[in-house]
Order: sequence, then structure tokens, then C-alpha cells
Amino acid sequence: MLYPDIERVLLTRQQIQERVAVLGEEISADYRGKELLAIGVLKGSVVFLADLLRVLTVPVELDFIAVSSYGSSSTSSGVVRFLKDLDKSVTGREVLLVEDIVDTGLTLKCIAEHLLSQGPAGFKVCALLDKPSRRKVPVKIDYLGFSVPDRFLVGYGLDYAGRYRNLPDICVLQREVYEGGK
Ligand code: 5GP
Repeated sequence: MLYPDIERVLLTRQQIQERVAVLGEEISADYRGKELLAIGVLKGSVVFLADLLRVLTVPVELDFIAVSSYGSSSTSSGVVRFLKDLDKSVTGREVLLVEDIVDTGLTLKCIAEHLLSQGPAGFKVCALLDKPSRRKVPVKIDYLGFSVPDRFLVGYGLDYAGRYRNLPDICVLQREVYEGGK
């Protein structure tokens, strides 16, 4: 076994890098002549955001928002608490929200409403992963890395109980780990 507690690798570091490069090209083309404010959602998006930033060819500023959703660490309750707000207002800015994974959509909906209420000039969402089968509320993802099956994923920034963020690949966590058997 490659890593302990991992069932299998779903997306290799190479697949991720290739996809991130394509996303970077698309975003850079769409924002040509504009200045972008990329907002990362802590902590899961940091690895993706760090790679994405380096393939963007337009001027880009960076800010972060931190949220926690009430509930267990493998499911989202939909009630979002803001732990860290932005350093500066997004009013009049071209905002690109960068998320690790969209599951029910509740977290993204909440953050989007919060940012849109400040009147950005533009607002788009870039998510590395999407689990469309789990959606509870409709959300628009403008730039998507991969659609993934309904399994709990870790690695490349994604954690379970604070661990596994450092794995370079995106992996399926063994069910026993989060269903309490291990
Ligand atoms: P939503 O509000 O869309 O249900 O949940 C989004 C958040 O749930 C993500 O930002 C992430 O923190 C967490 N999440 C959802 N699915 C997974 C997963 O498969 N692995 C990990 N590590 N987190 C997930």
C-alpha cells in the first residue's frame, strides 16, 4: 500500500498538474487585460491555489477566507461559520473564489452570498473537485478540475481530521477510517 489508510489513488499528481495547467490557461484568457483577486477558502484549497497561481499569466492578488461547517469531519451540515474574513473588501474587484471541493454546495452558496453582498465587479468560482451526485443546492462552478464519485477524498490539500493534506495525489480514504472501525 502506497499510504496507510488509503484505499486507492483517484487522481495522480500528474493528472492534477495537467488539469491545473489547462484551467490556468482558460482563466488567464478570460481575464486578459483585467486584474484578478483570487480568494482561497482555507485550508483545503491552499495546495491547489498555490499551483493555480503559478500558471496564471494575468496580474493576481491573493486573499483568504476561512470557514468551518458544523457537523462531523466527513459530512457537511450546511451551517457555515466564518472563522476568518477577507483582509480587504471585494467591492469593485474581479473575484475568483478558489475552492477545493463542492459537495452539497451549501458552503459555496454561503460564501458566494457573503462576497456578492459586497458588490464585486465580477464573481466566478473555480473548484478543483465536484461531487455532483451529492448536491443539495444549485451552485455555479465556472472552472472545474474534475467531477468525482461520492467517496471521501484526501490529499492535495484535502484532509480528514486535519491529516493527509500533504499527500501529493488525491486519494480515496478507506471507509473504516471515517466510519469509526479503525
Ligand atoms: P459542501 O458544503 O459543499 O457540502 O461541502 C464542502 C466542503 O466539505 C469542502 O470544502 C470540504 O471541506 C468538505 N468536503 C466535502 N467532500 C469532501 C471530501 O471528499 N474530502 C474532504 N477532505 N473534504 C470534503
